[in-house]
Amino acid sequence: MSDSIGEGEVTRKEVESLFTRLDQEAESGGYHLNPNREFTLGLIEGMMVNERRYGYWACPCRLASGVKKEDLDIICPCDYRDPDIAEYGTCYCGLYVSQDVLDGKRKATRIPERRPAEGMAAPADRMSASAQPGLPDLSGLTYPLWRCRVCGYLCARGQPPEVCPICRAKKDRFERFL
Ligand code: SF4
Repeated sequence: MSDSIGEGEVTRKEVESLFTRLDQEAESGGYHLNPNREFTLGLIEGMMVNERRYGYWACPCRLASGVKKEDLDIICPCDYRDPDIAEYGTCYCGLYVSQDVLDGKRKATRIPERRPAEGMAAPADRMSASAQPGLPDLSGLTYPLWRCRVCGYLCARGQPPEVCPICRAKKDRFERFL
């Protein structure tokens, strides 16, 4: 990696600074960045270039549309990170890995794309309260129930939190659950 790159003029210092922040946030939330530092720095650099290009952290290894509403599911951390880590030990790009991969007990390999071919799943296809048989009756809640689409964190309050306390996804990644 050079001191600065072409598009977006992201510097090595900026990339390393974001690496440190993401690493701290990941560890405090029970996640782990890929221990291959140069590989991880490269992905973070890609995210930063995408941020300059589109205004948000579009996944560095997927093709973004440039329309935030259409790309919400692939803004890092994407909607598919947790199920991919659980099943394969790594997210699609390999930016995040499981404890087993971190400990060398499992090898990270290329994994299939979980994102639907047409892009973000239609709201009706995503998890919703009505689609979950056996859920307790929460209709008496005083506040709406919000769900983080990245990690599944649920909270009952007037508005979703600015940042998910578990995975650090931003407010716009929450959906009304009930
Ligand atoms: S968490 Fe998702 S968006 Fe972020 S780098 Fe991994 S695959 Fe891409």
